[in-house]
Amino acid sequence: MKRSGSDDYVPVKLGITGGVGSGKSFVCSYLREKGLNVVSADELARNAVAHGSPAFEKIVAYFGKDILSEDGTLNRKKLRGIITQDKKKKEMLEQIVHPEVFLQMDREFDKSRKRRDAMIAVEVPLLFETGMEVFFDYVLTVSVNTDVRVRRVMTRDQITQKEARELMKIQMPEEEKVQKSDFVIDNNGSPDETKILMDRFYENFIGKIKN
Ligand code: ADP
Repeated sequence: MKRSGSDDYVPVKLGITGGVGSGKSFVCSYLREKGLNVVSADELARNAVAHGSPAFEKIVAYFGKDILSEDGTLNRKKLRGIITQDKKKKEMLEQIVHPEVFLQMDREFDKSRKRRDAMIAVEVPLLFETGMEVFFDYVLTVSVNTDVRVRRVMTRDQITQKEARELMKIQMPEEEKVQKSDFVIDNNGSPDETKILMDRFYENFIGKIKN
């Protein structure tokens, strides 16, 4: 990896993942506060399916106009409901959205490279499920016991325990993600406890790359 003074310079790429409700958003916003450039793959995906985009048109063509909200944008909740029940439709949606997200992510990497950033991080909820680990030099997984995750997701999304467990069932088991990762942050404790772990991670890893 060329680090500086060269045209093929590349910033270190860190992927941040974890199951639904593990605390990815929490950890990423803390890293942003500390000065790291953290891109959200979900946000890239939302941009990719914005009203009128090529991916938007393909989704409407496949799922029908019923998938739209009154304001003409995609009804994401309805779409999520459909794909949790139907594997084929889930795969079809992924085939439409993923290439667009990869394209946008490449653009973000390029911007970061041109700025000569030392590092860029991307929050990717389904990083291992979609084989996106190949895009990153390192992967950090935020880890929380399933029962704690279920409780946090129920509170955050105002859903039942059954619904929360359904969301988790379609994701790779957390132990597997942990095994495949370079770094693991335990978010079972209080937010302040996790911040201390993140401070340590920042000093020992990110700080050293940035300096
Ligand atoms: P994800 O982005 O991985 O789905 P979030 O960051 O949204 O997860 O966290 C899930 C919920 O749990 C949120 O409501 C968040 O405020 C809460 N949460 C995150 N970390 C903690 C923690 N350490 N202690 C208590 N609640 C937490």
